[in-house]
Parts: sequence; C-alpha cells; structure tokens
Amino acid sequence: MLDPVNILLVTVLSSIMSLAILGSLRPARIPGVSRWIGAYVMASVALLLAGLQRLGVPVLTVFVSNTLLALAIVRVLEGCRQFFGLRPRVPLAYAGCAALAFGIVWWYWVEPDLGARIAVVSAFHAAIYTSIGWLALRCRPPARPVYSYRFVMLSAWLGAFAHALRGLMYGSGFVKQHGLLDFTPLNVAWLALGILVLPSLSIGMVLLAHDRMAERLERLANLDELTGALTRRAFLSQAGTLLESARAKKRRLTLAIVDIDHFKAVNDRFGHATGDRVLAQFGRIVKSGVRASDLFGRLGGEEFAVLFADITREDAMRRLDDLRASILAVRRDADVNASQEELGSQEGLTFSAGVDELQQGDTLATLMARADAALYLAKTRGRDRVVAA
Ligand code: GH3
Ligand code: MG
Ligand code: MG
Repeated sequence: MLDPVNILLVTVLSSIMSLAILGSLRPARIPGVSRWIGAYVMASVALLLAGLQRLGVPVLTVFVSNTLLALAIVRVLEGCRQFFGLRPRVPLAYAGCAALAFGIVWWYWVEPDLGARIAVVSAFHAAIYTSIGWLALRCRPPARPVYSYRFVMLSAWLGAFAHALRGLMYGSGFVKQHGLLDFTPLNVAWLALGILVLPSLSIGMVLLAHDRMAERLERLANLDELTGALTRRAFLSQAGTLLESARAKKRRLTLAIVDIDHFKAVNDRFGHATGDRVLAQFGRIVKSGVRASDLFGRLGGEEFAVLFADITREDAMRRLDDLRASILAVRRDADVNASQEELGSQEGLTFSAGVDELQQGDTLATLMARADAALYLAKTRGRDRVVAA
C-alpha cells in the first residue's frame, strides 16, 4: 500500500473525485471553476503517467507528466485569479513552465541528475502554491466568513512548504535517490503530503465556490431588486446590529426616514412603469450618495431609510440636502433622453426627510418613531425639505 506507485494512483483517483465535485458546480457559472476543472483533468493524466514510470517510456512518464502537472497547477492559479476578479493569465508562470520543461530535458537526457531535476520541479510548485495561498489571504471579500479562504491558504502553503523542503533536500544533495518512485521513507512521506495537498486544495475550491453562491443568494434576499436598497427586513436587522455596536462603542448614529413627494402623481400621470423607473433612478442616486458604512433601505413603497454611521444629526442633514439637490435632476417622467427645453419645462423629483440622532436608552423602534414624526412635520410644512425631530 505504501509503494509510491500506489500512492500516486490513489492521488489520481482522488483527483477524479475532485473533478466530479467541481463539475457539479459548473452550471452555477462561477468564475474560475472551468479552469479548475481543466486543471484537475490535466493533473489526473499527469499523475497517471507518473505512476506508469516502470513502463520505461521516459518521454511520457517523466517529461510529459511533469510538464502537464506544472501546467495543471498554473491553471489552478489562473482559476483562483479569475475567481477573485483578477486578470487570469500569468505570463511569468508559463515562462516558469518552459524553464521547468527545459530543466527536465537537460537533467534527464543531457546531464542526468535526479537531485537537480527534483529541485527545479519543486521550486516551481512551491512558487505557484505560495501565490495561490497569498491570493486566498489577500483577496477575500471583506464581509465574507474567513473559513473557506483560510482553508485554501493553508492547503496551498502546506503544498508550498512540502515542495520547498523537498527541493532543498534533494537539490543540496542531502538526500540521494536513484529513481523517482524509490520506496524510501522520505519519498513515501513526501508523496503522502502531495496526496493530501491536491484533494484539500480541490475541497478548498469547492468551499470558495459555495461561499460565492451563498453571497449571491444573500444579495438576492437582502437587496430590493428595483432600487438596489436593502429590503426592509435586511435594513431592520442590520440597523439593529449597528445600533448595538454604536451603543457599545459610544459612537454616534443618525437615522433619516425619506419619502418621495407626490409620488402617486408620477404614477397617475406617466404610468406605473415610469414610476418604477423613477424609483430605480432615485435608489441609484441615493446609494451612490451615501458612504459604504451607511445603511440604505427601502421601508416600503416610496419610503426609505438611511442610517448614517459616526456623524451628527446636523452633518446628516447637510448630506441629505446635498442628496436633495442631486435628486432634483431626476425627471418625473424618467425620460433620460429628453431635450434641455423639455427638462426645463418639468419640475424635478423631490423628497422630504425626518432625521434624529441615537439617544441614550433608544431602541431602533423609538429612534424610528422620532424620525417618522419629523418626516410628518416636513410633509405638513410643504415637503421638499429635511426636518430634525
Ligand atoms: P406624499 O408627498 O404625501 O408622500 O405623497 P405621495 O403621493 O408620495 O404618497 P402616497 O402615500 O399617497 O402615495 C405613494 C404612492 O407610491 C402610491 C403607490 O402606488 C406608489 N408606489 C408604491 N410602491 C411603488 C412601486 O414599487 N412602484 C410604483 N410605480 N409605485 C409605487
Ligand atoms: Mg410620498
Ligand atoms: Mg409614503
């Protein structure tokens, strides 16, 4: 069982199993998955060829298998880069593959030296595994749970460590060996590490893909499709969390309830579809006008809420006044192609807002009630204004 050939064959089987799992993720169209599948097809063939070394066809079992395995691991790296939204191609990695192929030819046929051959192959794998781990560490989207990203990082760095150690031991002449598949304890130990790294990397990739799918579902569930604002449920839940944290850290928090003025008239005059487009434009403008740390939610219909983090009521009111100026550019008929004269002949969209700051002893409900009362005042005082509670 501990014969290196058996270990290689088990790795081939596990790679094929990884392929089956990665293949199941293809329909989800997650960036990078197709490259990962390609990588595991290449790795399975390469390892199968490596396992056939005793057949005595070195062109296939040494040259092709090593070069193909190197290309496979580059493909894994490219898949990871694509997954994280980076340009997938890494020309330097292909230059490394070419150098590796040349080294194999040189140290197998021209000046046979197993130690040098292992050193060059290991150095290449260690470098690529290190980059994969680095990507998983640096490119995790900030709001996502760390587990799957750390898993990929640790698997890749375990591979990098094993290859670096092997390269050093063989390259320095510390270990002498005659054949690549000799049955020595060190060789078995190294292959056992190898057998662990490829499947755990593939598990890591499956975890990454699942995290991406979870992120998509959460976005679908939490974002209002029309306006891009948080849904009411998501807003209330995230606002509650922000409120607790503001209270614990003694930080300021200001809530605004915002309601579009005379929106019913937009629907009555231009139709419901136009009303929808106006709402969508409103959502886009407010969303780009608040900071990433603020919460913007749709409470229902044409009523929204903004929770401003770390600013006073007065600062929040200034920001809302700026937003009021931007919203005026939205035409009530939502026609973005209209001429300047038409634009001038029509009044822009306005909103009213009620604002208040978090006080000691407030719950989200009491804060919202005060902002709501202020909104009512804004409406009765003639609309198109921001009023403090
Ligand atoms: P006020 O200035 O007092 O707020 O007047 P208003 O007309 O904006 O307020 P009212 O509450 O009377 O009407 C709100 C309208 O918003 C009525 C409803 O049909 C419309 N509305 C709510 N949700 C949507 C939506 O998703 N799409 C469209 N097109 N209209 C919507
Ligand atoms: Mg309204
Ligand atoms: Mg309303």
